[in-house]
Amino acid sequence: MASTEQLIELLRQQGPGGDLTDPRIAPVADLLARREAELNEELARQERELEETQQQARRRERAEALRGHLDALTTELASARALLDDLTAALGACPACCGEDAACRWCRGRGGGGFTTPDPDGFERFVVPAVRMYVRMRTPNNTEEEHRKSVE
Ligand SMILES: [Zn+2]
Repeated sequence: MASTEQLIELLRQQGPGGDLTDPRIAPVADLLARREAELNEELARQERELEETQQQARRRERAEALRGHLDALTTELASARALLDDLTAALGACPACCGEDAACRWCRGRGGGGFTTPDPDGFERFVVPAVRMYVRMRTPNNTEEEHRKSVE
């Protein structure tokens, strides 16, 4: 087999469109073809790795967005539960279902308002203003305009 330098020189002598079946050049042509195939394979592998990396980055972004959404929902749920606890206490209702669940282990669906003693502070805060408004709205001489003024 010819040395690398000799093969390169033979290739130079062939020039563009030269005869690559020349027995002196064939080993180099085979080597170049194999190297090209290896490089194409390597390029395809790197493209797959890049695509996988990009997919992982997109999945990570979606996971972070979902985690943020879950955190917000968890905070909102805790806040809603705290408010519901305050309201059911103010009404003296079952804290688990407010009397809406016949299968409730605390009240068996009988825990609506007045089921237990209302919390006095909560009653003053939530119920009394509602009762005042209800009475005002039901008073026969209370005109629409007076009602609007009383709300403002
Ligand atoms: Zn209940």
